[in-house]
Amino acid sequence: MTTNKQSLSAFHHRSITDRAEFWAEQATLIDWHKPFTQVLDDSRLPFARWFLGGETNLCHNAVDRHLPTLADKPALIFVSTETGAERTYTFAELHSEVMRMAAVMQALGVERGDRVLIYMPMIAEAAFAMLACARIGAIHSVVFGGFASHSLASRIDDAAPRLIVSADAGSRGGKVIPYKGLLDEAISLATSKPDAVLMVDRGLAPYALVAGRDHDYAPLRDQHLNAIVPVTWLESNEISYTLYTSGTTGKPKGVQRDVGGYAVALAASMKHIFCGNQGETYFSTSDIGWVVGHSYIVYGPLIAGMATIMYEGTPVRPDAGILWQLVERYKVTVMFSAPTAIRVLKKQDPAWLTRYDTSSLRALFLAGEPLDEPTARWISESLGRPIIDNYWQTETGWPILTVAHGIEKTPTRFGSPGMPMYGYDVRLLHEQTGEEVGPNEKGVVAVLPPLPPGCMQTVWGDDERFVKTYFSSIPGKLAYSTFDWGVRDDDGYYFILGRTDDVINVAGHRLGTREIEESLSSHAAVAECAVVGVADTLKGQVAVGFAVVKDPSLIEEIDDRLKLEGELMATVDRQLGAVARPSRVYFVSTLPKTRSGKVLRRSIQAVCEGRDPGDLTTIEDPSTLEQVRQALAGR
Ligand code: ATP
Ligand code: MG
Repeated sequence: MTTNKQSLSAFHHRSITDRAEFWAEQATLIDWHKPFTQVLDDSRLPFARWFLGGETNLCHNAVDRHLPTLADKPALIFVSTETGAERTYTFAELHSEVMRMAAVMQALGVERGDRVLIYMPMIAEAAFAMLACARIGAIHSVVFGGFASHSLASRIDDAAPRLIVSADAGSRGGKVIPYKGLLDEAISLATSKPDAVLMVDRGLAPYALVAGRDHDYAPLRDQHLNAIVPVTWLESNEISYTLYTSGTTGKPKGVQRDVGGYAVALAASMKHIFCGNQGETYFSTSDIGWVVGHSYIVYGPLIAGMATIMYEGTPVRPDAGILWQLVERYKVTVMFSAPTAIRVLKKQDPAWLTRYDTSSLRALFLAGEPLDEPTARWISESLGRPIIDNYWQTETGWPILTVAHGIEKTPTRFGSPGMPMYGYDVRLLHEQTGEEVGPNEKGVVAVLPPLPPGCMQTVWGDDERFVKTYFSSIPGKLAYSTFDWGVRDDDGYYFILGRTDDVINVAGHRLGTREIEESLSSHAAVAECAVVGVADTLKGQVAVGFAVVKDPSLIEEIDDRLKLEGELMATVDRQLGAVARPSRVYFVSTLPKTRSGKVLRRSIQAVCEGRDPGDLTTIEDPSTLEQVRQALAGR
């Protein structure tokens, strides 16, 4: 734990006014093979390069570096409630497994700079594969396991991988999802063909190998049991990986990240934000297919010398206590999950939250979606542990807004992810004028370049798209737009009001969907909800709400539904005023979401307006849109 009594605002101020000195200091948190000669090159903004000339390696920092002190301590804890498998790998074992995987990759022709696409479930081999790529300087591109063939095919074409690493199947909620058929189809759809496919056979779903292309991992691993694969030292600005955004607002963007800046940013965040210590256990319920899985399942915790739990399973199987049971069993000190998982638990018996001993937990971090105040309050009170909201994006790799308890014990506020983190020059800008807005005024959450270490370098293979997409939307200013809409209170706490394209214009009033959602959620019957703006000839737009209730038996009768709808509207009237009142609130059993658990408001909106719902490659369950249609049709 840090002992210096500095304030977060002074820490933040120094990170912006003296970037070079600040980040040089943070850079001492990792190992460098060769020291850097320049901290920052900002001569070509918005492109920024960090730690120039320095040589390091993510795998070395995550694994090898800990061998002298932690060899026999847990590094990777794999738990599957889907198959019942559970295994702990020490740092020494992880080191051996990564070298075996690296040797197999090299035997299959993978070289520094080559892309390796990883299409895998949450099994230990997926982490071995990521770390093996990092070790030999190959660029990994993880695609969420179970994505349909056409989404996978487009990612194969974008990355042009030499090798694809996959597995026979994933499993979710007890249902086996065979991967090989999807993969074969994707490869046949793709223009770019991999030289080789490496299959990890879990024995869940039989598959056929394509001769000359496909290989089973187990026999190749056996051939390389004693492999010694030295770390390839990489210049700080070489590419570590590419990863797609969740696709909530449209076509996903291929985020490209560096090596040194990312390692430093993660090490610093583990110390200042997550306050995780060497030898402790970190548990993130995310998936390696998402940025949280990259930063805070694989790299961040391991760089900090922590054991990290890789969990294949849902929050409610075998029962709604499973996450807390794992916290107790592995004495988890830092946990990371998403509001969507908490809303799932909200529909379950709250007694599960206190059945296990969670006193080891220093904090539960939540990110990915707005954490509405009622949900934050509910989980905080039911669990009795501190809840820390944190706001960031695939693009940034680590939190933009949160609190940094390693620096100062700033109190958290329900409904707010906190304040700007060191390194981010966050501004709230007026959409039309580009001017900064004052406290309690709404604006676009933007970051003035350079973006700090760890953030995306560019869009993979498309520098122009990087500048055009992210730095061209604010008039008169070179500023990175998050495309989120926010407000800052008098004390400097930020509140995210929704995506900029989700802002509703009702008779001239600009309203964030989030504000109305928050209000609906405050009703005790609501587990989760979504609000979208729907075109209206009279008012321009009207708000339409969709709600999931905690106890569906309460709204079986039409009269009960109408009564609850009326109560919900009255709640909005009371809290925000009649102008924000949704024209209708419909009830559905689940909301359309991306596979990363985010509400697909753009698709709901399209259905409400009778339009085509657009790109649905990232939707978790297409039948949820049918529910929206039926609700609208009054069925
Ligand atoms: P795409 O950019 O492809 O549409 P996406 O934005 O959903 O997809 P991610 O990078 O996974 O892809 O998500 C980042 C976004 O998630 C943020 O821009 C914000 O809208 C939302 N978000 C993340 N964390 C929070 C949070 N703590 N509070 C509010 N919103 C959050
Ligand atoms: Mg986004």
